[in-house]
Amino acid sequence: MIYEHDIDKANEIASAALEKLHKLTIAPSPDNFEVWYVYYAHLNPNLREEIDEKIRSEGSLNDKTVRALYEKYISETRHQDLYKEAGDQIHSTIQDVSGLVSNVKSATDQYSETLEGVNKKLTEDADKEELQEIVKAVVADTTKMLDNNRQLQEQLERSSVAMAELKKDLDRVRQEAMTDGLTGLANRKMLDERMDQMLEYAVQSGLGFIFMILDIDHFKAFNDNYGHQVGDQVLRLVARTLVDGVKGKDLVARYGGEEFVVLLPDTNIQAGVAVADNLRKAVANKEVINRSTGERLGQITLSAGVAEYAQGDTVESLIERADSALYTAKNNGRNQVASSPNSDKAEKRA
Ligand code: GH3
Ligand code: MG
Ligand code: MG
Repeated sequence: MIYEHDIDKANEIASAALEKLHKLTIAPSPDNFEVWYVYYAHLNPNLREEIDEKIRSEGSLNDKTVRALYEKYISETRHQDLYKEAGDQIHSTIQDVSGLVSNVKSATDQYSETLEGVNKKLTEDADKEELQEIVKAVVADTTKMLDNNRQLQEQLERSSVAMAELKKDLDRVRQEAMTDGLTGLANRKMLDERMDQMLEYAVQSGLGFIFMILDIDHFKAFNDNYGHQVGDQVLRLVARTLVDGVKGKDLVARYGGEEFVVLLPDTNIQAGVAVADNLRKAVANKEVINRSTGERLGQITLSAGVAEYAQGDTVESLIERADSALYTAKNNGRNQVASSPNSDKAEKRA
C-alpha cells in the first residue's frame, strides 16, 4: 500500500482511524491503525465493504477480526507489491543485458566484415603501404571489439550481482509471507500448504499424523486485565515454549488470535496426546512477568484438542475433530488435553 496524502489529509484520516479504534476499544497498534487508515483513506474498496458488512451484521468489530483484516488486505498486498517490484527489476536487468548483447552482436558482425575485407585485400597482393593501412584498421577494430567485450563482461557481472540480491530479497519476502509477524511462527498460509502436503503423504504412505489445536485459556480476561501489549508478550512466550517443546520435523503455527496448531508427522494418538500434555505443562510452568514493570502476572494455561489422521480425512474433517476435542477440554475445566481418536470418524461415518 502506498500512502501519498498531504499532511492535512493524512492528519484527518489518522484522527478518524484513532477515534474509531478508541470507540471499538481496540488497541491502536500499528497494524490495527493501518486497517482503519486504509478504511478512511478509501484505499481498498473490498476492505471497506467487508468492514461495513461486518458492522451491519454484527454491530461491532473485535480485535481478532481487525487482525484477520490486516492479514487479508494489508500484509498480503504488501507482499504482492514487493513481488511486483522484484519482477520489474528483473525485467529491467534483462532488458539492459539484452540491449548490450545486441550491441556487441552488431559490433562482432562489423568486425568479421572488416576481417573478411582484409583477407580479400591480402590475397590481392597488397603493397607495403596498403598493408600498413590494413594492419592499422584491424588493430583499431580489434581494440574496439575488446572494449565492447569488456563492457559486456562488466555489465554481466553487475547483473549477476543484482540478480543474486534479488533472489535473496525474494526468498526473504517468501519467508515473510509464510511467517506470523507477532510470534515468528509459521502462519496460516504456511500451515495450509503443509496440511495439503501431509494429507497427500498420508494417503500415499498410509502413515498417520497428529493435528492439534491449542487455545490459551481465558485470554480475553488476561488482555482486559493487563492490556494488549502484555497479551502480545504472552503470545510470544507461548509460541517459544511450543517450539521448544517439539522436534525438528514437527510444525508449530499460529492459527489465529490466541490459537496455535501443532502438526506431528508419523505420530499416533497416544504419542500425540503425550506431546500435547507436555506442551500444556511447559506453558503452565512458565511464570509470566511483565517485562516493563517486572510485575509477576502468574500462570498462563492452555487447553488442547488432539486429532489423529484417518484414511479419508480432509483438512476440514481433521480440524473439526480437533476443534470438538478442544471444546471438550474447555468444557471439562480447561488447562487439559482432550483427544478425538480417528475411530470417532469411522463411527460418525457408519
Ligand atoms: P477460552 O478459555 O474459552 O478460550 O477464553 P478466551 O478468553 O481465551 O477466548 P475468547 O475467544 O473469548 O478470546 C480470545 C481473546 O484473545 C480475544 C482477544 O482479546 C485475544 N487476542 C486475540 N488475538 C490477539 C492478539 O494478537 N494479541 C493480543 N494481545 N490478544 C489477542
Ligand atoms: Mg480462541
Ligand atoms: Mg482462548
